[in-house]
Amino acid sequence: MAALRGGIDLGGTKIEAIVVDASNTVKGSSRHPTPTAGGPADVAKVMVQALSEAAKSAGTETGDLTGVGVGSPGAVSPSGVVTAARNLPGWNGSFPLAGTLETAFGTRVIVGNDVAVGTQAEYAIGAAKPYGSVLGVFWGTGVGGGLILDGQMWHGRGGAGEIGHVVVKDNGRRCGCGHRGCMEAYAGRASMEIKARKEIKKGAKSDLIKLMKKKDRVRFTSSVWFDAVEMEDKLAVSLIDQAVLALGQGIASAVNLLDIDAVIIGGGLGTRFGQPYVDRIIAAMEPHLFPGHTNPAVALAGLGDMGGALGAALQLKRTRTARAATRRPGLNEA
Ligand SMILES: [Zn+2]
Repeated sequence: MAALRGGIDLGGTKIEAIVVDASNTVKGSSRHPTPTAGGPADVAKVMVQALSEAAKSAGTETGDLTGVGVGSPGAVSPSGVVTAARNLPGWNGSFPLAGTLETAFGTRVIVGNDVAVGTQAEYAIGAAKPYGSVLGVFWGTGVGGGLILDGQMWHGRGGAGEIGHVVVKDNGRRCGCGHRGCMEAYAGRASMEIKARKEIKKGAKSDLIKLMKKKDRVRFTSSVWFDAVEMEDKLAVSLIDQAVLALGQGIASAVNLLDIDAVIIGGGLGTRFGQPYVDRIIAAMEPHLFPGHTNPAVALAGLGDMGGALGAALQLKRTRTARAATRRPGLNEA
């Protein structure tokens, strides 16, 4: 059988596992909700289950895959240790994710940061293919940013790309990072859910909880938000409107600073809400773009729902690779 690779997108809401062939065609897939309780070992267990199912549906076994790529939130060490994966249960410390999965799968495992992996994938085979300098904005549970400058993946000193934590409002809504007024506090799915539940508790009328239960979910997923907005649920519409404004402000500020060729909008909410909302984000950016600059292209992620998992698998086979940035020590480092 031709060389097959595995890819796992470890998201805050779902774990998407795929098996692809040499031309990145999906041969098998499986999707599970991300555990809401427990710790890293429990999350890893679901990842193993999901990829095993994807391999089975592709007519193979995990041990016969050339390798498995993983896109994970949090800080990822070169050996695949994942630290402080926010939005995942009990994952404030470090966990040897690559090692744990290698033992379970019987093949090599490469772990990368989910946002970097997603941006690289759009750059290599997705909507960012025509461009040299690109900002990937992943509008999902949080709001992640991946930056490729002149073909080089920009990591800074390890922490670059946190566009979700640019400030859009002085002393604004509390963010998951502990500060106030971050873009993510308005646009992140998790933050919007906290705000919505608070408003509902205070008596706001909304069908968000009813829609969630109808879908047999425990969270306000992207599709719960989408359906609520389609139904013109007042609370959902108002929170999504605020999210669009925050995204417009934050992304425009980043564009003013970087003058990049293109912005790619992806993530769970980004892909679910699609092109009409990319157009709304462009309109929300307009009043904040620096006069005289050439506006960048703003495009919907080209790899869609499977983009994260495809990007994860792509780590084992780079087509148009953004060069890794050289890490330079910071001012306060010895
Ligand atoms: Zn923040």
